[in-house]
Amino acid sequence: MNYDVIIIGAGNGGLSTATKLAINGKKVLVLEKHNIPGGCGTSFRRGRFEFEVALHQLSSMGSSEKPGPLRELFKEYGIEDKIEWIPIESLFKVNFPDGKGVSLPANRKDAEKLLKEKFPDESENITNYFDTVYNFSIETDKFAEMQANSVNEPSKLKKIMIKQFFSKKFPTLAKYALKSTQEVLDEFFKSVELQLCVNAYWCFMGMPPNRFPFSILARCTYIYMEDKPYYLRGGSQVISQALADTIRNNGGEIKYNCGAKQILIKNGKAYGVIDEFDNEYKCDFVVSGISPIETYFNLIKTEESVKQAKEYLKSYTVGISALTCFIGLDCTPKEIGFTDSFNLNYENLDCNESFQNAYKLMPDIDPLINTCYTVDDPKVSPEGTTVITAGTLKYGKAWMELSAEEYYETKYKAGNMIIDRLEKKYPGFRSHIEEFEVATPLTHMRYLKHPQGAIYGFEQDLKSSVFFFPREEYIKNLTFSNGWVNICGFGPNYLYGSTVADKILKGVEK
Ligand SMILES: Cc1cc2nc3c(=O)[nH]c(=O)nc-3n(C[C@H](O)[C@H](O)[C@H](O)COP(=O)(O)OP(=O)(O)OC[C@H]3O[C@@H](n4cnc5c(N)ncnc54)[C@H](O)[C@@H]3O)c2cc1C
Repeated sequence: MNYDVIIIGAGNGGLSTATKLAINGKKVLVLEKHNIPGGCGTSFRRGRFEFEVALHQLSSMGSSEKPGPLRELFKEYGIEDKIEWIPIESLFKVNFPDGKGVSLPANRKDAEKLLKEKFPDESENITNYFDTVYNFSIETDKFAEMQANSVNEPSKLKKIMIKQFFSKKFPTLAKYALKSTQEVLDEFFKSVELQLCVNAYWCFMGMPPNRFPFSILARCTYIYMEDKPYYLRGGSQVISQALADTIRNNGGEIKYNCGAKQILIKNGKAYGVIDEFDNEYKCDFVVSGISPIETYFNLIKTEESVKQAKEYLKSYTVGISALTCFIGLDCTPKEIGFTDSFNLNYENLDCNESFQNAYKLMPDIDPLINTCYTVDDPKVSPEGTTVITAGTLKYGKAWMELSAEEYYETKYKAGNMIIDRLEKKYPGFRSHIEEFEVATPLTHMRYLKHPQGAIYGFEQDLKSSVFFFPREEYIKNLTFSNGWVNICGFGPNYLYGSTVADKILKGVEK
C-alpha cells in the first residue's frame, strides 16, 4: 500500500499534522498503538465519572471575537464550532503552607491589582515585572515574524549587523531570553510568596524555577492572560476524536491497536513503515509522533546515521512523569471548599528544594497540583458531584525499580498520601470519595510507550528547550511532530503539528 505520509502515533502532534495533510489532499495513514486517538489527550471512565487524563487548561484559544492562534487552527480544521469551549475564570490558585492562598484572575489588570493589594511593598516591582513579561512576549512575536519573512541565509556581515540590531530592536528578549525563572524572579521580587504567585507554570513543564526557562514562563503568562485558559465539554478526548474524524472524512486512514515496529530506510531516506503485525506500507514521508529515543533506537535498526542521532541525543535527558489521583466526589465543589479550577498547594516555600522529592516515590512534600473541573463547568460530572485530579510530578526511575508486588502497594500508598494532604486542606474530603484511581509513571509508560513514562518529553530546561530543542534530523524524509521536539503541552503541539505539515506540503525537507 502506498501513502504520501505515514504518521506514527495519534498524540496531539501526530493528529494535528495528519489532519492538516489530509485536508490538503495528502493520502495519510496514522498508526496508533492504543485503541483510541489522543495519547495524553484522552479520557477514561470509572463508575459514573469520566476522567480527563491530562488537560488542565488549554492555551492560545482566545474568544470568538478575538481568536487566538489555536482557535484559528481549529477553524481551519473545521472542528472549532463542533466543540463547546468553556472559559476558565482564574489562572490558578496558589496555596501556601500556612493555609493562606492567592487566586490570580485571568487578566493582567485584575491580577496586578490583586497582587499589589496583597504585597503593597512591592507594588512598583509588580508593574515592572508584568511590563517585562509583556514586552518579552511582544518582542518574541515580532522577532518570529521577522525570521519568517527572511528567506535567505544572511551573509557574515549581515549576521554581525543583525547581532547589533537585535539588542536594540529586541532589548527585553536580548536581556532575558537565556535566563532561568528563578534569576528573573530574584531580580524583581523580595517576597518568596509573591514569587510563587507568578511562577506557577513551572509545573506545566516539569522543571523547578531554578531550571525553568523564563522565556517559557513569560510566554505562558502572556498567552494565558491574553487568550484566557479554556477547557471543553467532554474533555480533550473530544478534540482527539474530532481530529480523527476530520482525517477520515478527508480520505485519511487511522489504524488503532496497530503500533509501528520498523521504519524502512534506503540510502539514508525513509520510504515506509512496518507495523507490529508485519504489514508493510510504503510512503514518501514518515512523521514520528513518538520520542526520538524510541524512533531512532528501536524503530530504525541498521543505519549509520542512527549512530550520529544517538550521539546527538546524549546531551538530552528524559523528562519527568507524574503521579495522579483521579477522584469523583459525591458532593459539589462548594461543599468541599473548591473555588478555583487549578490549584497548586505548597508544603514548603522553597519549591526548588521540594522539587527534589520528584526523584523519590512518596508525594509527602512535593508541590501538589489539583484541578477541580467542576468549578467552571458543573456539567463535566453528574449533577451534584465533583471531578478532580490531584497529583505530583515524579520521575519514572524509582517506579521502574519496584517489583510487581511492591508496585501495587506503593501506588495506593502514594495515592492515599495525596488524599491525606487534600483532607488536611479540605476537611471532609475523604468521606465524599465515590471513585478513585491512581496513575503512576508506569501507567504513562504503558499507555504512551514513552521512556520512563515522560509526559513532557525531554527535560525542558535552559539547555534543552526553546532555542535548543532536539530538532536535528538524521534520516531524509523522516521528521518529528510531538512534545519531545517542542514545548510540550496541548496548544503548542497542535500548533507545531500544523507547521510540520506546512513544511511537508511545501516540500522543504524533501
Ligand atoms: C498527567 C498529565 C497532565 C498534563 N497537563 C497538561 C496541561 O494542563 N496542559 C498542557 O498543555 N499539557 C499538559 N500535559 C502535556 C500534554 O498532554 C503533552 O505534552 C501532549 O499531549 C503530548 O502530545 P504528543 O504529540 O507528544 O503525543 P503523546 O500524547 O505523547 O502521544 C503519543 C502517542 O503515540 C502512541 N505510540 C507510542 N508508540 C507507538 C508506536 N510504536 N506506534 C504507534 N503509536 C505509538 C501512543 O500510544 C500515543 O497515543 C499533561 C500530560 C499529562 C500526562
